[in-house]
Amino acid sequence: MEQTPLYIRVHPNDNVAIVVNDGGLGEGAVFADGLRLRERVPQGHKVALADLAEGDEVVRYNVVIGYALKPLPKGSWINEHVIRMPSPPGLEDLPIATTRAPEMAPLEGYTFEGYRNSDGSVGTRNILAITTTVQCVADVVQHAVTRIKAELLPKYPNVDDVVSLGHTYGCGVAIDAPDAMVPIRTVRNIALNPNFGGEVMMVSLGCEKLQPERLMPPGTIPIAAAVDDVADIGDVALDQNGDVVVLQDESHVGFQSMITSIMKMAEGHLKRLNNRRRETCPASDLVIGVQCGGSDAFSGLTANPAVGFATDLLVRAGATVMFSEVTEVRDGVDQLTARAANADVAQAIIREMQWYDDYLKRGGADRSANTTPGNKKGGLSNIVEKAMGSIIKSGNSAISGVLSPGEKVNQKGLIYAATPASDFICGTLQVASGITLHVFTTGRGTPYSLAEVPVIKVATRSDLARRWHDLMDINAGTIATGQSSIEEVGWELFRLMLEVASGRQQTCAEKLGLHNALTLFNPAPVT
Ligand code: CA
Repeated sequence: MEQTPLYIRVHPNDNVAIVVNDGGLGEGAVFADGLRLRERVPQGHKVALADLAEGDEVVRYNVVIGYALKPLPKGSWINEHVIRMPSPPGLEDLPIATTRAPEMAPLEGYTFEGYRNSDGSVGTRNILAITTTVQCVADVVQHAVTRIKAELLPKYPNVDDVVSLGHTYGCGVAIDAPDAMVPIRTVRNIALNPNFGGEVMMVSLGCEKLQPERLMPPGTIPIAAAVDDVADIGDVALDQNGDVVVLQDESHVGFQSMITSIMKMAEGHLKRLNNRRRETCPASDLVIGVQCGGSDAFSGLTANPAVGFATDLLVRAGATVMFSEVTEVRDGVDQLTARAANADVAQAIIREMQWYDDYLKRGGADRSANTTPGNKKGGLSNIVEKAMGSIIKSGNSAISGVLSPGEKVNQKGLIYAATPASDFICGTLQVASGITLHVFTTGRGTPYSLAEVPVIKVATRSDLARRWHDLMDINAGTIATGQSSIEEVGWELFRLMLEVASGRQQTCAEKLGLHNALTLFNPAPVT
């Protein structure tokens, strides 16, 4: 279908706009207001709305995203080759809690069917998770998981899945380095995710640096799930810190003995998990993580604003929502500190930005390393433009708390959970922080998902939603063409979240059995 030439300007002060049409527009195309393209402009890319002289500011989202490197007459294609990126805002003299969040009435009466745990948290899935203390045991555990799923899981129909929490940490690392706390608490807190019902079981090799008692110090695991059913489980090594199978234990003679021990221990946990039942819970018990990946210029126009609208609905309903991705908010840090609920929250945001600036600097990089070839092909010229589109996922609510990478959340409202922007690392850290449902927007397209929590994927463009019809849960591309509004898609997403959280609907990735491996963030040295 031939569409009339269409562009979207985000803010009245912007001097560039985004070409909406599938396939882009050729030289000479004329928009409704008479603007004529001087050259071909691909879909999602920017067109100059005014004549720009060399050095002039290029403004999108009412923010300077760059400076013209040469004269760019009205109708020119504005891409990364013709603009220079601005410096990031400094971390001094930022506005501190200056923006009052818009008055938003509480949203009442929305519920979902969840699994309430003894600590009050609520899961959206009922999963047996097997924690590993070191990469060395990964394949043994995976072998056991395959057998557990085939031989035991059918006997426990209320349990949704069995997953191995594999990772590459645990040994060959400077485990006493200060930053080692990041991967260690990540592995620990993932095991305590509400979707796993407090049923922690670990598989250890025996000689690794990350010993089970270091991973799960006494008192870490909720009482209800701590050691019981000892008699049922039999000859496995048991520990006051939880249930542990140690492969190097002298009781093991041969591989089958290890598998049998893991399966016996798993069965004790499956029995208890099988007794869990969904119950009606207020939407305030939801803990949602939002993320974007494979972004394009539409991310900030369609999917992310719709997610932002849904974020505000969730906050109004009293839920917890996390947004993350340090390099994708760094250029808008002033917006975040201004939106902080109080000075302590603003200072915590600055602390996390400073930590990440230093981390990148140690590696000889800065936030500009974020954008990918696909981002640029999708019309995002640089990280400033990408960040402005990314932050929109957080909606308009006040930021009520900040988490360092992998820390567990313990409050409601909008939370800034500092993580890298890498999709799987951000997802892994949000799982550690306690999300029970993940919302992921994409413009280029990615099959990304997680085994630990359902992942709802939102397409930024109708063309992607059409081609990836069985991988994308929601199409926000209709916002660009005016067929639906940000509010409509935001409500659609909010309702879908309640359905998926309740287990009444599976995500596309769940139906296909797709999920990415957990990927830890280890800023500390390896040895
Ligand atoms: Ca990401």
